[in-house]
Amino acid sequence: MNDRPRNGQAPGPAAGLCAGCTHVRRVTSARGSTFYLCRLSLVDPRFPRYPALPVVSCAGFEPGDSEGAGSS
Ligand code: SF4
Repeated sequence: MNDRPRNGQAPGPAAGLCAGCTHVRRVTSARGSTFYLCRLSLVDPRFPRYPALPVVSCAGFEPGDSEGAGSS
């Protein structure tokens, strides 16, 4: 019933820039929904924790590991 995505929630390509950004961390909920958490939000208040998707323009975008794994 509730199939409208919320902020930070979208299938891969619909995430826009976040899908290919080194700062993103994909979070999968217990219900199988995928959320895109912007890790820049932890250090810079200009960036929302869960950006409204798709992100089409972002000052913090850096191409890289879209999984956000392997770095700390
Ligand atoms: S820096 Fe921008 S493009 Fe990268 S994850 Fe955050 S909101 Fe998405």
